[in-house]
Amino acid sequence: MIVVGSGLAGASASATLAELGYKVKCFCYQDSPRRAHSIAAQGGINAAKNYQNDGDSVHRLFYDTIKGGDFRAREANVHRLAEISRNIIDQCVAQGVPFAREYSGYLTNRSFGGAQVSRTFYARGQTGQQLLLGAYQALSRQIGLGNVQMFPRTEFQDLVLVDGHAKGVIMRHVTTGELSRHSADAVILATGGYCPVFYLSTNAVGCNVTATYRAHKKGATFANPCYTQIHPTCIPVSGDHQSKLTLMSESLRNDGRVWVPKQKGDQRKPWDIPEAERDYFLERKYPSFGNLAPRDIASRAAKEACDAGLGVGPTGYGVFLDFADSIQRMGEHSVKEK
Ligand SMILES: Cc1cc2nc3c(=O)[nH]c(=O)nc-3n(C[C@H](O)[C@H](O)[C@H](O)COP(=O)(O)OP(=O)(O)OC[C@H]3O[C@@H](n4cnc5c(N)ncnc54)[C@H](O)[C@@H]3O)c2cc1C
Repeated sequence: MIVVGSGLAGASASATLAELGYKVKCFCYQDSPRRAHSIAAQGGINAAKNYQNDGDSVHRLFYDTIKGGDFRAREANVHRLAEISRNIIDQCVAQGVPFAREYSGYLTNRSFGGAQVSRTFYARGQTGQQLLLGAYQALSRQIGLGNVQMFPRTEFQDLVLVDGHAKGVIMRHVTTGELSRHSADAVILATGGYCPVFYLSTNAVGCNVTATYRAHKKGATFANPCYTQIHPTCIPVSGDHQSKLTLMSESLRNDGRVWVPKQKGDQRKPWDIPEAERDYFLERKYPSFGNLAPRDIASRAAKEACDAGLGVGPTGYGVFLDFADSIQRMGEHSVKEK
């Protein structure tokens, strides 16, 4: 089997296939699988374990995910994801991922946007990094056993088709330029996202969709290229020195209240603006989800506020995320830590 990509998708696919007895060749363009962009994921991973006993179920996770994807995701795949979400957590724990736990030792959860239950498993604000280290360990074990051959610093150039089926790849070494060809019974592309097509994004400029595009040119189906997540806690662009945007953890959104001044061009400091002159627009528009409305809905509402001239900060592209209540509830230290 050929697996192009060794992020969370590619590393776990390679390790699992090898466990099943397949011989795998795995490729990535970074110098190590540990540098895949999955490392940037912060907030956590959803699973319908219902540990909080708050009415969660596979169907509810399925429904929330379909809704969070603006009803455009493929339902069969989302249902499968919801079904196996519980096993994924168990697999990650077995791989040594240090998910946050209650004082008693049980795995704990936090709330995420788009859900009215608490089902997100997390490792502080570095869940992706910890998951990637777990997947990398499983991959390394299979490399050590001789079941996976790892090819870092190689870039996918082309897909080789035999009778219309993907049976091989052409790769180029990124430092020597050497081309190589590899054949297999099947090819898995796990080459990640491509947000920089929108210029600035929270993905690195290397996440550039070339592998997917080259496969698409050879006939692979490619759906919904427009549907890239616009995250509501992305910190607004601050100058032309940036090649990448920074994301605040989703865990902060579930503790804060989002608002803008009711009056256009209000230059007062936020603490000088009285309650009656603030518009908590997510709580007003979406009373049942409030500040935890799905990400696309929350981002769209923030953009509408900015487009209406109510945005704050030097660029006018920001909205306030107010922690006054959570500081009262949890103390400044806990909020600062997040
Ligand atoms: C800032 C940020 C925060 C996030 N937070 C969360 C979160 O809290 N919860 C959540 O569920 N998701 C989150 N996500 C999304 C999540 O991180 C990604 O969807 C997921 O990690 C993608 O994994 P992947 O394995 O598909 O891709 P990647 O980790 O990007 O891996 C892609 C792999 O493909 C290889 N590759 C790419 N192109 C080529 C090529 N042409 N030739 C050879 N190899 C190639 C790369 O070398 C790499 O190994 C976040 C994303 C970002 C950017």
